[in-house]
Amino acid sequence: AKEKGRNTYSYFTDKMNKEVSRRLAIEEQIHGALERGEFEVYYQTQVDITNNIIMGAEALLRWSNPALGSISPEEFIPIAEQTGAIIPLGKFVFLQAIVATTLWKKKHQSPFRIAINLSPCQFRDPDLVSFIIDNVNQSKMSPKDIELEITEGVLLSGHDYITVALEALSKAGFSIAMDDFGTGYSSLNYLRTYPFNVLKIDRSFIHDIETGTANKELVLAMVAMAHALGIGVVAEGVETEAQLNYLKSINCDYAQGYFFSKPSPVVKLLMSNPEPQCD
Ligand code: C2E
Ligand code: CA
Ligand code: CA
Ligand code: CA
Repeated sequence: AKEKGRNTYSYFTDKMNKEVSRRLAIEEQIHGALERGEFEVYYQTQVDITNNIIMGAEALLRWSNPALGSISPEEFIPIAEQTGAIIPLGKFVFLQAIVATTLWKKKHQSPFRIAINLSPCQFRDPDLVSFIIDNVNQSKMSPKDIELEITEGVLLSGHDYITVALEALSKAGFSIAMDDFGTGYSSLNYLRTYPFNVLKIDRSFIHDIETGTANKELVLAMVAMAHALGIGVVAEGVETEAQLNYLKSINCDYAQGYFFSKPSPVVKLLMSNPEPQCD
């Protein structure tokens, strides 16, 4: 028994050591990575499922490092948030997304809304609002072409400056989306307190549409509730035709997921045909 205990112990310390050194390596490499050109913004289309046309895209950050290979945002975003690297990275994503949208509009002459993720730390930057407004004014875009996606995490702290920033962005005409809806504890409360225009149903609900009746009912209720509040709905993580058909049957507005397209570089985004989706 003693022997077993020692093995379990060394198993855990080994695992912890690995996690700690991975983390340290990421922290070390993320420093200067933007300047070295290791980041790229990918775009995943969002489809208007009533009219079957691409109506926009979500900007998603990608990082490829010579020493570490490609690192998932699930792994590096939290570290970028803790080290403050998210501030310049967030600005980079924003500027790239404006360029991509301008190129899309030049090529397709169709409306296009770009969705950009904002993490809680970015709100601690006192220049966030003016950075966003100034850069949109300098481009030929209108604020309504830009959707700012925030998760419940942004609102959890309850800081006044977050409310102030959101109200200012909303008044300036930006669309505000609640991301990962249904996964937090207080989403409903936030929905009535903050100026949301769009609700993104988390992909875990969409994934289980075909397997569980409860999920079907929940998705149906979320869409109905959002519509009753005058809020649009994006279903995330749509992977199958059956999921899409169900979403159409309950009047969900938009869908995003591998069924339509994976996140891809700007060149590939620009090659997509705005009309009939499903490749
Ligand atoms: P998110 O905002 O919920 O983004 C959606 C994630 O779902 C993306 O993962 C996307 O690639 C993935 N996805 C899209 N369609 C499907 C599908 O059909 N099936 C499945 N299984 N997954 C799908 P990704 O790109 O790995 O990003 C992960 C998270 O990292 C994002 O979740 C977001 O929270 C964060 N993130 C990514 N880029 C940025 C950024 O520029 N800024 C900030 N603050 N966060 C970012
Ligand atoms: Ca998002
Ligand atoms: Ca999401
Ligand atoms: Ca997420």
